[in-house]
Amino acid sequence: MYGNGQAPIFILKEGTQRTRGRSAQSNNIAAAKAVADSVRSTLGPKGMDKMLVDSMGDVVITNDGATILKEMDIEHPAAKMIIEVAKTQEQHCYDGTTSAVVLSGELLKRSEDLIEQNVHPTVICEGFRLAAEKAISLLEGHGISTNDNDAVLLEVAKTALTGKSAGAVKAFMADICVRAVNAVGVVDEGERIVDLGDIKVEKRQGGSIKDSTLIDGILLDKERVHAGMPRSINDARIALINSAVEVKKTEVDAKIQITDPNQLASFLAEEENYIRGLVDKIKASGANVLICQKGIDELAQHYLSKAGVFTIRRAKKSDMEALSKATGAQIVTNMDDLSAEDLGHAARVEERKIGESDMTFVTGCPEAKSVSVLLRGGTEHVVDEIRRAFDDAVGVVSVAWEDGAVLTGGGSVLAALSRDLRTYAETIGGREQMAIEAFASALEIIPRTLAENAGLDPVTTLIALRKAHADGESHAGINVYEGGVVDMKDGNVLEPLRVVEQAIQSATETAIMILRIDDVISSKGVSMADGFGGDGDFHM
Ligand code: ADP
Ligand code: MG
Repeated sequence: MYGNGQAPIFILKEGTQRTRGRSAQSNNIAAAKAVADSVRSTLGPKGMDKMLVDSMGDVVITNDGATILKEMDIEHPAAKMIIEVAKTQEQHCYDGTTSAVVLSGELLKRSEDLIEQNVHPTVICEGFRLAAEKAISLLEGHGISTNDNDAVLLEVAKTALTGKSAGAVKAFMADICVRAVNAVGVVDEGERIVDLGDIKVEKRQGGSIKDSTLIDGILLDKERVHAGMPRSINDARIALINSAVEVKKTEVDAKIQITDPNQLASFLAEEENYIRGLVDKIKASGANVLICQKGIDELAQHYLSKAGVFTIRRAKKSDMEALSKATGAQIVTNMDDLSAEDLGHAARVEERKIGESDMTFVTGCPEAKSVSVLLRGGTEHVVDEIRRAFDDAVGVVSVAWEDGAVLTGGGSVLAALSRDLRTYAETIGGREQMAIEAFASALEIIPRTLAENAGLDPVTTLIALRKAHADGESHAGINVYEGGVVDMKDGNVLEPLRVVEQAIQSATETAIMILRIDDVISSKGVSMADGFGGDGDFHM
């Protein structure tokens, strides 16, 4: 090539690795598939949990796809792209992460077969794009309206909790989720919005899951500063202060020389007067609860206690903001500005012992567009997994509340889509038809995996499922408890439409992105093949 003695020109740094063409493609596909395989066994009600141990020896036990992938230390760039699928799914829909990842793995696996049959990757990509578009347009037709019906939302929450450790108390947890979402959901110019930031979650180890509660107000992980203060206050008038209740420190280091004992006494009296003045201002405002973001000095605590003011110090900034929202209080910086108008209201402020520590419950807030949930569980690992399950469940309820549309689960809708896409493929023809058919088959990975994880024979079950749909049973899905297929609408297995839509969308986009790569240039010296070959040395 470089004739006439011309030296080759290097445009890449020394040590740069490069894989091209088919081998780049198959490496990427293998890596992506390995990631998908690693979470497959957790899918569905009969999915198993994983125990993840990090380099520090910390243990996480979870069934949550996104968490598993987050905790795994993955290096391969294509594998990382699959993890992005889970992240996107989690961010937009709170659920369906495992499904999205498993689906993108299956799309890639099916495209490998097509590549072997000499179908060009760009044709596969085009076919996949058409198929996804069609599938998503068909989804609407399968939608069931929630009609603002709590019973439907409860079933959505219960479906999300199935198979998690919180599954045993599904109805109980689902009820908390639905009440929380109903409390914070707002309709703004016709747009329905749930800001999950308005649902504050505190977890406490100890007790049982059933000790979890929803509070129509704010829960603070704080106790009152002085035992002499009342433990509870009814008809609370709450002052929120974000400056310290203490003698102001001077900016410069000053030394005061005292030559006479009287001088010391008057100096101390001066300090005491100042503190007393601050407390008087709080009293004068009419506040009987003070929540301070900064410190409160001992003398001030003493006076506040004598005045019967329930006081908390060093509250978190986020808690101050939540309190302001829930109680209607203004956060005041300068004590001189504090007046009755700045105070917020709550029916009751109370300190209660929860597990080992004391917490403060601010309940009965007039504008409780902000609520708190206290989650309990026997051990740290249990509470952590309950928290993750709760986040999923409250998330899907919020999505269903916002969109008002749900689908039947258990692979029922995907089986229906798969069938419809096969018919659609015939109208396209050519090699793209093959890609659309491959896409249609890939969708069946969800019911197939649900069956496998439930210990059912995947082939027999899929055949039964196809037959049910051919017979017009459009809600037929996998019966993971008794085998065979069952009507998912009758079984109340419901999930938000957005979860399925997003899963199809991001799985397709990622599969396409990975398929389009035919050249991997790596400067870090990341080995592209390590650990992801078909030789099974990638373990979970
Ligand atoms: P993901 O991370 O994708 O949400 P899950 O482990 O939560 O994974 O499993 C979700 C799948 O399980 C969905 O396809 C859902 O329809 C299905 N599923 C949930 N409950 C049932 C049930 N009772 N019977 C059959 N399938 C169910
Ligand atoms: Mg789920």
